[in-house]
Amino acid sequence: MENVLSPTAIEEYLCKLPRRARWRQWLSGRRYRVACFADRATPLVIIAHSFRDAAMARQVALVVEQDWAGVPPHCRASYDEILFKAPSLIVVQLRRKNVCGCLGHRHLFVREAPFSEPHDAFGGAQVGEMDIAYTRIETWLAQPLSDTALDAKFREGSRLEEFRAQQFRLRLLSVLLHETHHLVSPQEPEISVRERSIAFYREALASYVESAIATMSFTIDRSFSRFG
Ligand SMILES: [Zn+2]
Repeated sequence: MENVLSPTAIEEYLCKLPRRARWRQWLSGRRYRVACFADRATPLVIIAHSFRDAAMARQVALVVEQDWAGVPPHCRASYDEILFKAPSLIVVQLRRKNVCGCLGHRHLFVREAPFSEPHDAFGGAQVGEMDIAYTRIETWLAQPLSDTALDAKFREGSRLEEFRAQQFRLRLLSVLLHETHHLVSPQEPEISVRERSIAFYREALASYVESAIATMSFTIDRSFSRFG
């Protein structure tokens, strides 16, 4: 049988784990969700989470599958080489928060049990691991001044909730890319890794804001014309 790395292959692998391992996993509340980037076969992102965080794991999957495809091409291009060099399987341990208060970390070793040892189903693929702390990412002020200014703009247009949701998803995406960058170049200093992920976030958000504001003024104009 040919070993092609795909979300289905990984899901099948998880289903075929020895019964005891599956039960242990199920009882401890551990769940997995596999996501892939729309424009490339690898890396596959395996979101390891508690059953309590299933909704958030779904969001992270959407970030990989949809939001990545929606950012401007030059933003995607800035991570092209990093994603190309990245381990073909990336395990993301989804947490609410970290003791240290960080947004995320790359791990030196893969600790997530089903992926900590090589297996035929991985087709010889390299496995990397990171954690991300989503409640910390929700409250993170990536760019304090402009974020506050944008909040005000969207409050006026009563699209604040929608804006915040998109902003959060772009933050998740930039943290995921930031930690992938660390996995690919462990020696690169934090400052340059951070510079790239912040630029990605800033430009992706700017592009979203630009198109959202274009439709917002359209909506406002229409509601005014109703009174006219
Ligand atoms: Zn970092």
